[in-house]
Amino acid sequence: NIFFLKFFIILFLSCIATRFNFCLSNIPSSLKTLPLVGHLSFDELSLTKASRDFGNRYQYHPMAILYPNSVSDIANTIKHIWNMGHSSHLTVAARGHGHSLSGQAQTHGGIVINMESLKVYEMNVDVIGNDSPYIDVSGGELWINILHESLRYGLTPRSWTDYLHLTVGGTLSNAGVSGQAFKHGPQISNVQQLEIVTGTGEVVNCSKDQNGELFHSVLGGLGQFGIITRARILLEPAPSMVKWIRVLYSDFTAFTNDQERLISEENAFDYIEGFVIINRTGLLNNWRSSFNPQDPLQATHFKSDGKTLFCLELAKYFNFQEMDIVNQEVERHLSHLNYIQSTLFQTEVTYVEFLDRVHVSEIKLRSKGLWDVPHPWLNLFIPKSKIHSFAQLVFGNILTQTSNGPVLIYPVNKSKWDNRTSVVIPDEDIFYLVAFLSSADTSSNGSDSLEHILSQNKRILEVCERANLGVKQYLPQYNTQDEWRAHFGTHWEGFRQRKFVYDPFAILAPGQRIFQKTI
Ligand code: FAD
Repeated sequence: NIFFLKFFIILFLSCIATRFNFCLSNIPSSLKTLPLVGHLSFDELSLTKASRDFGNRYQYHPMAILYPNSVSDIANTIKHIWNMGHSSHLTVAARGHGHSLSGQAQTHGGIVINMESLKVYEMNVDVIGNDSPYIDVSGGELWINILHESLRYGLTPRSWTDYLHLTVGGTLSNAGVSGQAFKHGPQISNVQQLEIVTGTGEVVNCSKDQNGELFHSVLGGLGQFGIITRARILLEPAPSMVKWIRVLYSDFTAFTNDQERLISEENAFDYIEGFVIINRTGLLNNWRSSFNPQDPLQATHFKSDGKTLFCLELAKYFNFQEMDIVNQEVERHLSHLNYIQSTLFQTEVTYVEFLDRVHVSEIKLRSKGLWDVPHPWLNLFIPKSKIHSFAQLVFGNILTQTSNGPVLIYPVNKSKWDNRTSVVIPDEDIFYLVAFLSSADTSSNGSDSLEHILSQNKRILEVCERANLGVKQYLPQYNTQDEWRAHFGTHWEGFRQRKFVYDPFAILAPGQRIFQKTI
């Protein structure tokens, strides 16, 4: 009897192994028969590249990379996997520019779609009627290219991220937030139409009025409901120049009062952000970006003396002929603010220089080998009513010695966000984005080591939880479905149901670790 039992166990296990190997060994050949205009790559170099991201902490090795040359390449590939049903373990990750933080655009053993190679849609600006001009772009297009193309028509997108070497599909899957969001909302509030390939391989056009449920699901949807292959982005007339201003506060209340007042006045400034300066001694004009102020002597001599300071960053767009009026307006608005009077730093740059400012830092950091390091970033949305408690707990206690990168802090108006989209935000009229944009030193054991920064992030999340601050993660990073359920709160059931409709086998964006494909 024992002999038979052993025999059956071995038989059973070898059947499973054979079936698994069968799947693995046959999938490439079945994929190779797909009718593609582009191509699939199985070469090790491409696979290794697709298993990396900006966060530099997670690495999932895919089985193949699809370089699509048409939307049907994407649709056929997904449909093929969909038709395999539960017998296949294959998943699909759209990869924009791979600037995720913890493997969100990766898949273990699945297919990565290199969205940047989808160039079927020539960027197309429509200025007819001029009421609401727009540009149609591929989902894999970089924002920097969209800027240059729309500027050829004297136009520009209205809402940005701080860094433009990101793709449309990647930022629309999150939200796309920067200093213009108080006025125009995030990037997901500035899209008119999308073309989507769903998790069943169907190609669907959608907008607020046509297939609205899919349209809203995909915006801020973390890649869960479909792949964005085309987007229609709203444009406005482009300015040529930007007045770029920084002023400092030592009093957090004065800082946030001014920020909140400014975001309630739509025409005062075009961009409003802010950041925290922790324990920096010496002169402050050694800014960590392309900001190069032409200041009066007084400002360049300001010393921070190690205090925690809060920097309000403002921008006003203008064209040359409006220079005098703009100067007067800016002066008038600044005169109502309560910053430390000797700390007005300002400069004028071209519109492109302003928007592409982080790229200047990227070039500097790359030349020093400091760009491809681990980035344990933590991004939070914090309700306005809790921002003071947050500051006290975090800037006053946890982050007292130093920060390992910029710490951004600025408010936005909830009225500019569409609550039908998938992104999760606090339920208050004004909420803050606080972003800890840390870089880790892999050779360090000290306060800039990856372990130290990760444990600091954990402490920040824990104090927020304990103090019940109603904080929501932006660019969220969780590992279990329970954590995701808590993140979505009352929106979880809706999110889960939408997943069931548009990607029932959980083929898409497995790197978010929200749903797992069942086989
Ligand atoms: P990826 O990292 O490649 O993808 C992100 C997610 O979207 C993945 O789940 C992926 O599967 C999915 N995805 C990608 N393309 C598509 C598509 N076409 N259709 C459907 N799903 C898709 N964010 C802000 O909001 N504001 C900022 O100011 C800002 N600044 C940043 C600065 C830097 C230096 C960096 C590195 C990131 C910044 N981000 C900012 C975050 C950025 O928006 C996200 O990391 C975004 O996901 C990166 O876009 P990507 O094109 O590299 O996408």
